[in-house]
Amino acid sequence: MTSVASVIAELEPALGPKGLLKDVDIATRPAWMGNGGEGSAPALLRPATTEELSTILRICHAHGQAVVPQGGLTGLVRATVTSGSTLALSLERMNRIEDIDPVNRTMTVQAGVPLQAVQEQAEAEGLMFPLDLGARGSATIGGNVATNAGGNRVIRYGMMRDNVLGLEAVLADGTVVSSLHPMIKNNTGYDLKQLFIGSEGTLGIVTRVVLRLRQLPRSQNVGFVAVPDFNRLTDLLRRIDAALGGTLSAFEVMWRDYYELVTTAPATNRKPVATDAPYYVLIESLGSDQAADEARFEAALSEMFEAGIIVDAAIAKSQSERDAIWAMRDDVGQNARHAPIQAFDVSLKLDDMEAYVAEVNERLQARWPKATNMVFGHLGDGNLHLITGVGDGSAEARHAVEEVIYGCLRPRGGSVSAEHGIGLEKKPWLSVSRSEPEIALMRALKQALDPKDILNPGKVF
Ligand SMILES: Cc1cc2nc3c(=O)[nH]c(=O)nc-3n(C[C@H](O)[C@H](O)[C@H](O)COP(=O)(O)OP(=O)(O)OC[C@H]3O[C@@H](n4cnc5c(N)ncnc54)[C@H](O)[C@@H]3O)c2cc1C
Repeated sequence: MTSVASVIAELEPALGPKGLLKDVDIATRPAWMGNGGEGSAPALLRPATTEELSTILRICHAHGQAVVPQGGLTGLVRATVTSGSTLALSLERMNRIEDIDPVNRTMTVQAGVPLQAVQEQAEAEGLMFPLDLGARGSATIGGNVATNAGGNRVIRYGMMRDNVLGLEAVLADGTVVSSLHPMIKNNTGYDLKQLFIGSEGTLGIVTRVVLRLRQLPRSQNVGFVAVPDFNRLTDLLRRIDAALGGTLSAFEVMWRDYYELVTTAPATNRKPVATDAPYYVLIESLGSDQAADEARFEAALSEMFEAGIIVDAAIAKSQSERDAIWAMRDDVGQNARHAPIQAFDVSLKLDDMEAYVAEVNERLQARWPKATNMVFGHLGDGNLHLITGVGDGSAEARHAVEEVIYGCLRPRGGSVSAEHGIGLEKKPWLSVSRSEPEIALMRALKQALDPKDILNPGKVF
């Protein structure tokens, strides 16, 4: 195999000084809240066009040179880690919104565009790109595609996969596969874009994407309710969905400990409801008529109250009150109080959740009596986030906690990653959620598309 220095020497004239940076400190590359990348790389490749990227991969493929794609570096599973001899690849210079088509309700963007820029551009046209997550200012569309990102409004609009109509990707050998179709319906053989969505940069580099836009809602109603037990929580989801007539857009649940954490000092969020309860829910509906939707929202919550499904409720009356309830839900940074912490993102059937969390707590506390476990999440999507505060921050402690979290998931057939992906972090646990034949098929796809294993090697499996 050629040395990385000679591959760089071959790439340099093709990319020019802006397209290839040497001596880049990966750890200080800008990322969410001052975080940086992880690892080191002899060069950062920054193509300005699909053609330049194709040249890069053709050269790297010829020499068996590994490349690690990096978007906004907000991923949470260590999927962008470089080793000293891998080249880092960023599409930060491919950051243009190329087209917005209000008739077909599509937007064509380059993969390096930040999610928030897409949301804002859509809104300026009276449209909406519904994918939303806390890292929206830094996360890129390419990263969102490669992780099949989820977020806050999946219950209504689906995950990234459901909001991509077409895409262009460059394969490991430099071949450009352009599948930039704008149609919702297109059953012409295999749906090739799905190969790349959620593949964490291991099957191809996503360069351009046709996004599906929706009509911008004209009303938003947000309520916050207290629920007396888990059975009533699942009842509430079913009944509120029916009562809101298809406008339910978020159903975010917090277990009591998380609610206390984000509403007590040093957190500055105020408690929307004072009643002590085991579960709290943020309910949001997006619709078309503020007055009529507000009346329906209030009537729905009254109905739940009268049926004894909820025991307290607050309804936001202004945009600032709506924002404050969402800000409380999103104030995950409060977990740092219990450092060292370990964050998990799992999914399982709704009717398994109560027993799952109870078993996790019991096993954590048996080993670490002072363990904390903050549970919250997109319950409407079967997705829980657990943030544990135990141990001494060592790799051994992390592994012991993982054994509890994933061990309790295994008999329930849950997923070790609901929306964050596998990366390096969850690689040892993939078999909890995927069978041998499934993993073998993944390997066969990898072998077919990237036989020399140059794209993000070592990630996922
Ligand atoms: C505060 C916060 C909140 C978050 N909330 C959510 C949430 O609610 N839901 C959720 O799903 N995630 C969430 N995340 C995780 C993260 O934001 C998403 O995974 C996001 O999609 C990653 O985008 P990125 O551009 O930062 O990608 P990166 O982190 O840079 O990369 C992620 C993966 O994508 C690959 N990749 C990047 N660009 C490309 C490309 N052009 N072609 C091929 N592969 C590529 C990388 O190799 C890597 O495997 C959150 C993160 C933070 C910090």
